[in-house]
Amino acid sequence: MKNGGVCPKCSGTDIYHSPCVMDRGEGNAAMCLAVRRSDPIEARDVGRFEVYVCRKCGFSELYVDNPGEL
Ligand SMILES: [Zn+2]
Repeated sequence: MKNGGVCPKCSGTDIYHSPCVMDRGEGNAAMCLAVRRSDPIEARDVGRFEVYVCRKCGFSELYVDNPGEL
């Protein structure tokens, strides 16, 4: 769906994209889902997920935004 904009399950073409997959942190704070943090001091997200969702059937694809950084 990332390339082409067509759902591989139902052939739907109404694809929702979000650069952030919501997660919850301390104190129920909204954060973006990521593979890990860089280190305790810098605390930068590494491998943040983005998602593509078919609005017809709900099929979803997750991608890491910068996989070479892992
Ligand atoms: Zn679909």
